Amino acid sequence: MSKKQAKSFDVIVIGAGPAGYSSAIRCAELGLRTACVDNWHDEKGRSNLGGTYLNAGCVASIALLESAKIYQSITHNLKEHGIQVEGVSVDIAQMMQRKNNIIDALSRQIADSFAHYKIDCIRAEAKLLNERLVEITPTDHSAVSIIEAKHIILAAGSSPIDLPCAPIDNEFIIDSTMALNLNAVPKRLAIIGAGIIGLELAGIWNRLGAETILLEAQESFLSMADQQIAREAYRIYTEQGLELRLGARVISAKKGSKKASLERSRKVTVEYQDSEGTHALRVDKLIVASGRKPNTENLAAAEANLLLDENGYVHVDENCRTTLPGVYAIGDLTLLGPMIAHKGIEEGLFVAEQVAGLHHPVNYDLLPSVAFTDPEIAWVGQTEQALRAMGEPIKIGTFPLKATARAQAVGQAEGMVKIIAHAETDALLGIHIIGTQASEMIAEAVLAMEFSASSEDLARTIHAHPTLAKALHGAALSLKNKSKP
Ligand code: NAD
Repeated sequence: MSKKQAKSFDVIVIGAGPAGYSSAIRCAELGLRTACVDNWHDEKGRSNLGGTYLNAGCVASIALLESAKIYQSITHNLKEHGIQVEGVSVDIAQMMQRKNNIIDALSRQIADSFAHYKIDCIRAEAKLLNERLVEITPTDHSAVSIIEAKHIILAAGSSPIDLPCAPIDNEFIIDSTMALNLNAVPKRLAIIGAGIIGLELAGIWNRLGAETILLEAQESFLSMADQQIAREAYRIYTEQGLELRLGARVISAKKGSKKASLERSRKVTVEYQDSEGTHALRVDKLIVASGRKPNTENLAAAEANLLLDENGYVHVDENCRTTLPGVYAIGDLTLLGPMIAHKGIEEGLFVAEQVAGLHHPVNYDLLPSVAFTDPEIAWVGQTEQALRAMGEPIKIGTFPLKATARAQAVGQAEGMVKIIAHAETDALLGIHIIGTQASEMIAEAVLAMEFSASSEDLARTIHAHPTLAKALHGAALSLKNKSKP
C-alpha cells in the first residue's frame, strides 16, 4: 500500500474514549491543532466515538440496568404501590435498541464537539512510529498514511483479558462486550469474576430473569472496597437472588453436548475448584469478566521503544509522561490509578493543559470509585482496613439508609454510609456508601475531602430534608455523638 505525505498537527490523540476525547477537546479549546484517531467499530463495522465506556461499558450497562430495574419493579413491586398490571413481557431487541440509541446520541455529541473545535477525527488504527510520527491504517481500508505532531497522547484504553481455560466463542462463552448485546435472556448464566464488571452484568440479567451464578477465585469479596461495605453488598446481592460462590476458581469451560435432560441440554459446562474439590456446573451462557488489559499490543512499533511493564501497561511518570519526549499516556493504559472513566477524563485534561504550558495535576488520592450496580457502591479515600494497617488513629460513623425518610418513601432503603475520620484531627479520611444513588452522593464526599473538611464540617453543613444525602449527614453527626435527624 502507498504511504501519503505526513500531515502535521500540534497534538495527535490516539483513542476517543473518555480520556482521549476529553483531552482532544481541551487541546483544541486551548488553540492547539489537534487530530484524534480512533479504531472502534461494532460487529457490523460501524465506527463510534466514545470507547469502551460508552459503547461497551458504563453507559451501556447503566442503560440496560435501568430497563431491567423497571421490568423488575413492574413484576415485583407494583402491587405494593396499589398498581395492577397484567401481561408484562420483555422485548430484549427493543431494550437493546434503546441502549444503542443512547450510545449513538452520546457518540454523535462527541463527533459534534470534534467538528465544533475543528478536531481532525480519523477513523483508523494508529501506530506510534516514534515520538513525532503516527502511522494511520483507515478502518475503511483506504491508503495507509503517516501524520506527525509535536505532542502525542496515547489513550487507547483497555479490553477484556482472555482466560485460556474459558476461550470466548462469541456464542455460549462471551466477554463483557457481548454480554451487553445478548438477544435473549439466558435461563441459567454463570459469570467468571465477581469484580465490578461481573457484578454490574449479573444485576442486569438476574433482574431480567436469568438464574445467575458468579464464580470468584478470591476468598474475599470486593477486596478493593471497605470490607464492612463489601459484606453489606454481599448480603444485599445474595438476598436479591445472585449466587455468589467465593474461592471458586474456574479451571475449564467447554461447550456441552445436547442431551435429553434439561440439565444436560445446557450449552456450557464450567469446571471450578474450591476448598471442597472440583465441581461442574452446566449453564446456558458463560460470561468471562476476569479483568481488563491495556490496549498496547499494536500501539507502538518496536523501533519506537515505548517502555511497557511486564503486563503491557505504559510506563509513565506522575505527569503521565512516557519515556519518549512529547509522548503521554493516559486512562486505562497506565497504572497511575484505577481503570475508571473519570480518571481518564481528568488525566486527559491534565495532559492537554501541560501541552499548552499549564499545570493542574490530578489528585489521585481523591478519585471516587463507583460500582453501577443496584444498589450502587461508591467510595473515596481510604478504607478502614488500610487505615488500621497503617496504624492511623481513626473514628468511624455509620448511618443506615433506612433511617432516612427519603429512602423509605422511595422504597430504596437498603444500604449505609460510613465515614472514617482521624481520631485526633477529625479530618475526613474515607467515605463509603452503598445504596441507591451512591454515585451521586459521593460527589459531596469528594468535595468535602478536596476542601480538607473535618467530619464536624460535614455535620454542621445543612442538608435538605428529606434527601438521601441526609444519610451522609447522619453518619457525620453520629461521629460527634449528636442526635440523629
Ligand atoms: P476485576 O479484576 O476487578 O475482577 C475480575 C475478577 O475475576 C477478579 O476478582 C478475579 O479474582 C476473578 N477471576 C479471574 N480469573 C478467574 C477464574 N479463573 N475463576 C474465577 N474468578 C476469576 O476486573 P473487572 O471486573 O473485569 O474490571 C476490570 C477493570 O475495569 C477494573 O479495574 C474495574 O474497576 C474497571 N471497571 C470500572 C467500572 C466502574 O468504575 N463502574 C466499571 C467496569 C469496570
